[in-house]
Amino acid sequence: MSSERLIGGLRSALSFIDSRYRLRFSRRDQLEAWQAKQLKHFLQRILPKSQRFKDLKVIDLTELPLMDKATLMDDFAGFNTRGLSLEQVLPVARRAEDSRDFSPTLGDITIGLSSGTSGNQGVFLVSALERQRWAGILLARTLPRHLLPRLLCPWRAPLRIAFFLRANSRLYTTLASRRIDFAFHDLTLGLDVSFERLNTQSPDVLVAPATVLQGLAEAALAGRLTIRPTHILSVAEVLECADADAVLAAFGVAPQQIYQASEGFLGYTCEKGTLHLNESHLHIEPDWLDAEHIRFQPIITDFSRRTQMIVRYRLNDILRVANTHCACGRVERAIAAVEGRADDVLWLPDLEGSQLLALYPDVLRRTFLMHGATLQEYEIHQQGLHWQINLQAADDYANLCVALSASIHALCAQQGLQPPALSFGHWEAPPLHAKRRRLKLLQLPEDWPCTY
Ligand SMILES: [Zn+2]
Repeated sequence: MSSERLIGGLRSALSFIDSRYRLRFSRRDQLEAWQAKQLKHFLQRILPKSQRFKDLKVIDLTELPLMDKATLMDDFAGFNTRGLSLEQVLPVARRAEDSRDFSPTLGDITIGLSSGTSGNQGVFLVSALERQRWAGILLARTLPRHLLPRLLCPWRAPLRIAFFLRANSRLYTTLASRRIDFAFHDLTLGLDVSFERLNTQSPDVLVAPATVLQGLAEAALAGRLTIRPTHILSVAEVLECADADAVLAAFGVAPQQIYQASEGFLGYTCEKGTLHLNESHLHIEPDWLDAEHIRFQPIITDFSRRTQMIVRYRLNDILRVANTHCACGRVERAIAAVEGRADDVLWLPDLEGSQLLALYPDVLRRTFLMHGATLQEYEIHQQGLHWQINLQAADDYANLCVALSASIHALCAQQGLQPPALSFGHWEAPPLHAKRRRLKLLQLPEDWPCTY
């Protein structure tokens, strides 16, 4: 083993131990004191190394302006401490996407592209050091106790992880080591080609988007997969109850969630099954969407980063809080659900016609879920005051359209909204590597102010 690899492995191991055993806060004031200390160092020592924040003397985080993906992409070189421009990094990222070989780096920097429609794609930089720390933190936060010996005891077989995503990255392969047998499955190749490799590897841990987990569960129930993973993690998509039920039925294990985005490792499910925000590594301000403080968009500051500056960065996601203390004892904020993205929210005028009100993804999902197994798949696209609903019905399609139309009218009446004009069509399966998005706001109704 080269000394560089050894040091990398040690770094991962140290951050694993640090995250798992030291950064476990059972008092909110202790967590906040830890964050304040990290933030102070970050604002004084790290942030000024980037061009954008060079001359700023910042004492308090809230003095800094908000940023988002567009701000970052507009001044890419300004927001990283290496002064790397888009012109320097994009060719490396594009070559990796085209060749499906995700190993090339620019020096020690890994370049990742976030999913997003073209023109809205984000580019993210991670150094070797940050990669090694990330690997340690991720394992510390997601690995259940029964699998720890596989990671730590040299006489046991290495931990086997199967990982499905649309693109691999050096970030993920950093997990591969003598103690971890890591297999990446490229979703752009389809699911069927993975079955043989999966059966041969027989993974302990299965990581995949929710829709892929459901596909694997079906294959297992049909006898095409013989794997018995003991830990299953859902990533990259909203995990719906139907997905979780299918996984439980097929593998006897309830899936947990990792809330990971290009912007950072944002959340994890604890051993009690609660999704917690990763607040011991990130500062997360809630940008409340409602007066009741139920839903918010997170504004994140990653004080652990040293390369790309993610500072008061507003994510496009909508999170719904869980207002109970988790039995695991952690005080990191508990999340009832990652509901979707801000443009998954649909808007309709109120009964007076004076303003638009939000219909949140979770509310609509629940309405659709009431139709049970008859409704196999659906998507809603809003264009002004018109909703195009595409469906796949188990049996009577025409009856289902009538029933759904009635539920949407009932929901609107209950929420004090004018119902949209509805058209129904047939649902078509998107490619496997496309993210599932059931709700899409294509265009807001015109001439109305919005109120969350
Ligand atoms: Zn918990």
